[in-house]
Amino acid sequence: MKGSAHLTIGGAAGLAAAMYLHTDPLATASLVGIGAVSGLAPDLDVNGKLSNRITISKKWLILFFALAGGLLAIYSYWDLSGMMQLAGILIGSGLILLPRLFIKQRTMLFLTGAAIGYAGFYMDLYWMMLLSGFIIVSSFLSHRTLTHSVIGLVYFGYIAWHFEQSVQVEGSFIAAVLAYASHLVADMKAWSFNKKGVKWFQPFVHKEF
Ligand SMILES: [Zn+2]
Repeated sequence: MKGSAHLTIGGAAGLAAAMYLHTDPLATASLVGIGAVSGLAPDLDVNGKLSNRITISKKWLILFFALAGGLLAIYSYWDLSGMMQLAGILIGSGLILLPRLFIKQRTMLFLTGAAIGYAGFYMDLYWMMLLSGFIIVSSFLSHRTLTHSVIGLVYFGYIAWHFEQSVQVEGSFIAAVLAYASHLVADMKAWSFNKKGVKWFQPFVHKEF
């Protein structure tokens, strides 16, 4: 199923949670947003779909490495000598040339997860560190594996529970869990538009539903 459909269904799940809890307009808007994001979260394991959007721009990262490499090369040329100079120039050139060959979407997703983890650690936000773990693990998974299972749902719910404690928006947990679950249900084989289904109980049971 397309990302836009998951986003819409997730947002609707957030709205349902808000209506059930009779939240005020601001909280209602927040829950719709939380639902939309959570509805997309399982597909962080898709190369270049959602992972495209939330990652730091690839161009900027390549530029950053290139600048760092350029500075290192110049510094080595002027201030170092012998083997150190040679090594500095080689490493500097590598930083300029290699990232454009090797930085892929998954690497970007991994780096985004790591950056969020660092931010969470720095700000002492446990939910952000948990989210970082979710993103980093997703960057290594293939599509429709653990993020599309009960384990993924429970872990995401655990993040959402801590998120609600932290931001104090009532219903965050319910909205996130409903929206995440809606994604898995929408991906099921029971719908004629899906060729592949969801292995809810992987890695223990590999039956596809
Ligand atoms: Zn999916």
